[in-house]
Amino acid sequence: MSDQDFREFDPNETVADISDEVIEEVTGNKDSSTDEKKDDKPTEFCYICHRPDNITGPLIKMAPGMSVCTDCMQRTFDSMGSFGFGGGDNSKSNVDMSKMPNISFLNLGSLFGEGPKVKNAHGAAGAEKKEDRPAPAIDINNIIPPHKIKEKLDEYVVGQDYAKKVMSVAVYNHYKRVATGTMDDIEIEKSNMLMLGPTGSGKTYLVRTLARLLDVPLAITDATSLTEAGYIGDDIESVVSKLLAAAGNDVERCQQGIIFIDEIDKLAKKKNTNQRDVSGESVQQGMLKLLEGADVEVPIGASSKNAMVPTTTINTRNILFICGGAFPAMDEIIKARLNKHSSMGFMADLKDKYDEDKNILQKVTVEDLREFGMIPEFIGRLPIVFATEMLDEDMLVRILKEPKNAIIKQYQKLLELDEVKLEFDEGALHAIAKKALDKKLGARGLRSIIEEFMLDIMYEIPKDENIGQVIITEDYIEKKGGPRILLRTTGLIPEKAAAN
Ligand code: ADP
Repeated sequence: MSDQDFREFDPNETVADISDEVIEEVTGNKDSSTDEKKDDKPTEFCYICHRPDNITGPLIKMAPGMSVCTDCMQRTFDSMGSFGFGGGDNSKSNVDMSKMPNISFLNLGSLFGEGPKVKNAHGAAGAEKKEDRPAPAIDINNIIPPHKIKEKLDEYVVGQDYAKKVMSVAVYNHYKRVATGTMDDIEIEKSNMLMLGPTGSGKTYLVRTLARLLDVPLAITDATSLTEAGYIGDDIESVVSKLLAAAGNDVERCQQGIIFIDEIDKLAKKKNTNQRDVSGESVQQGMLKLLEGADVEVPIGASSKNAMVPTTTINTRNILFICGGAFPAMDEIIKARLNKHSSMGFMADLKDKYDEDKNILQKVTVEDLREFGMIPEFIGRLPIVFATEMLDEDMLVRILKEPKNAIIKQYQKLLELDEVKLEFDEGALHAIAKKALDKKLGARGLRSIIEEFMLDIMYEIPKDENIGQVIITEDYIEKKGGPRILLRTTGLIPEKAAAN
């Protein structure tokens, strides 16, 4: 640092003297400050950096005769952040203020039109340029027909043909409605969806894939964390602020996004209870307006509303809501209904006819949903109801190897970087699928099982440059043997375990 950067502090020097110098330094023109002084409004100086307000922008009055510029104020907050107050790196402190309710450290720039930039609904993006994002697989402004949307989904999602078909049509209709406004005199109903299906059957994955293909922002939230406004927990509107964050604070993009609310079955009305139901029925009630389309005021760049955080208004009318849930015990409700109908008259069926039906959820009706505890107004706002299939062994094997980003393909790519070829015997794939079925976690269990077996391989292979190929066998998965290793130099296949 040069000597010019510092100078001795002269106790006789007044703040105004120092400020005059600063003005001179910054503007290179002594007169400009004198011109300022001729104005009606006297020039004010930052108490910390002593710069005048014509350079710093409006000052914040802290106390009589003590005003601070936004830069200095922000620096103070930032330095507090670095000591563990209000986000930032909290490693140095046990106190994480960012996790405290209703305490949020603001970006001061936002008070003066800077800081978390919000693009308004009319696309006025301020000075910000549209980011250079790659062209989406499906353009929502020129949306492709449902069968093409399904074809794209097929590349990633195995099976679930019915679910993919329903979603493709719903998305097609939704974005067509959004692109054209309402058609003729008929208001086309919003295509909000309710998706039932066992854990790990790909509900979240379907929504994620769809949002990625459409290149629209997606917010995923858990219904169990939602409460009515005023109670501890995330209030219902917080899902919209999550979506705004996912849209990079772009209001227009946010208003075309998708909100996925998982575990919606947990909001079912509790039977035989006299207590006030905070998390269930009342949350369903609270969501009605949001699902239909309402103006919601959401904080920008923060998760909770508070007097210091700037807000913006989001209209949820064109936001697509997809609710998902496993709906345990729904199969019993459906069976009971079907048995009631079928046990009447001459055509009476056997009582256990539906016991073996693994995909009984696909027979769900609005009546069943009401019986389960979803309120009619809520169901009414989710006009598209469908269920995903229970994954069987063959589907799990296909999930392992077929999708564009299949787990096996990912490992093969990783080992390819070490010039090692990785193969899985068909028997090994079925053994992995069986293990996943035992865990009852659907496809979600696959990755953890594979990871367990691949750990040793990924650890050992880089040790030996002679290894050219690894074949994962059924015996290895059943823990009865090791993987087959093919050496690069000899081409022999010694029955040698990579591990141990
Ligand atoms: P759910 O939301 O139904 O509980 P997820 O969507 O979270 O289940 O599925 C867990 C993981 O399993 C996903 O991340 C995905 O990798 C995989 N998966 C599930 N179903 C499929 C499928 N049909 N095709 C491909 N992968 C799937």
